[in-house]
Amino acid sequence: AFNFSAGPATLPEPVLLQAQSELLEWNNAGASIVELSHRGPEFIQVAAEAERDLRALMAIPDDYAVLFLQGGATAQQALIALNFANPGQAVDYVVTGHWGKTALKQVKPYVSANVAANGEAGGFRDIPARADWNLSKDVAYVHYTANETIHGVEFRDIPDVGDVPLVADFSSSIAAEPIDVSKFGVIYAGAQKNLGPVGVSVVIVRRDLLERAGQPRADIFDYRSHVKGESMLNTPPTWNWYLAGLVFKWMLAEGGVEEFAQRNARKAGLLYDVIDNSGGYYRNEVAVAARSRMNVPFFLKDEALDKPFLKEAEAAGLISLKGHRALGGMRASIYNAMPEAGVQALASFMRDFQQRHG
Ligand code: PLP
Repeated sequence: AFNFSAGPATLPEPVLLQAQSELLEWNNAGASIVELSHRGPEFIQVAAEAERDLRALMAIPDDYAVLFLQGGATAQQALIALNFANPGQAVDYVVTGHWGKTALKQVKPYVSANVAANGEAGGFRDIPARADWNLSKDVAYVHYTANETIHGVEFRDIPDVGDVPLVADFSSSIAAEPIDVSKFGVIYAGAQKNLGPVGVSVVIVRRDLLERAGQPRADIFDYRSHVKGESMLNTPPTWNWYLAGLVFKWMLAEGGVEEFAQRNARKAGLLYDVIDNSGGYYRNEVAVAARSRMNVPFFLKDEALDKPFLKEAEAAGLISLKGHRALGGMRASIYNAMPEAGVQALASFMRDFQQRHG
C-alpha cells in the first residue's frame, strides 16, 4: 500500500529492509543497534555519520551546530524562547496555520510574543503579504512555519526580516529542496515526516546565538549543554537517530535534495493538476502561490462521497487519506519517501472515482 499519512509518515523501503536485517545484530557488534551503548564506539560512529550526512545533504555551514534531540518539534518550540530571548526581550511570530499557533502558544509562558502577521482571518488559505507584516524593533527573533502540515500552506521563498535571526519550523518540509541555511538563525524539525521515525528532532542553530543568555532554565533545556554534550547529555533516542541516519544515506544515494526537489515538484504538480482539472469535483482552497508540495488538502464537491472515497482508496492500496479533523475532507501527504508511483496511483484513482461517481 501507499501511505499518505501526514506523520508519522512512510519510511523508504530500502531503509526499513536494512534496519530489519540489522535489528538482531548490528555490524558484528554482538548486539542489536537498539542495545548498544550510546557511549560506545559503534554508536558514536553512527551518530557522527548521521550528522556528517545531514550536513552534506543540506549544505549546513560549519558555523551552525546540529543537534539530535528528544521532545519533538513542540518541545523545541518552547526551548527556542528559553534559549534565545533574553529576559524582557520580545519575539515576533508569523502565523500561517495550526503549527504557527502552536509555536506561539509554547512561548507565551516565557516571553512577550507579538503576532507580526496572521492568516487566520482568511482561514489560513494564504500567506499574508510580506509588506503587511508588522515586525517589531529589537525582538530576539522572528519565527515562522515553513510548511503548515494541516492547512497545506508553504512558504516558497525565505522571508527577508533584515538582521533579526529567523527561526523556522521545517518539521514537514526539511530536506524537500535545497535551502540556504545561512539565511536562518535556527531551523528545527521533528524527524517523522521527511527525515525518519518519530522520537528524534533535528535542531540546526547558528553558533553565535548560543552565546545569548536566554531565560533561566535547567541544563536539559539548554541548547549550549546539548552542543557541548554532542546531543548525548542524557540517553539519546539511539534507534530513532540510527534510522534517521539511514534515511540520510538513502537520500544522498538517490541524488540528494536537488533530486528530491524535482520529484516533489512533479508529485505535487500531478495532484494539483487532477484537482484543478476536475471541474470543481475536487477542490484545494489554498492560494496557488502558497500551495504546499508536501501536504495536499482537498475536498470533494459532495461531502457524502467522503466515506466511499476513503473506502475505495483503501481497497486500492491508498491509505491514510482522511483529512485532519480541523479541516475535514482529504489530505495527501507526499513527503520525500513517497514514490512517484504512489502519487500516480492516487491521481488515477481520483480521476477514476470522479468518472464513476461524478
Ligand atoms: N510543526 C509542524 C509543522 C508539524 O507538522 C508538527 C507535527 O505534525 C509539529 C510541529 C509538532 O511536532 P511534534 O509532534 O514532533 O512535537
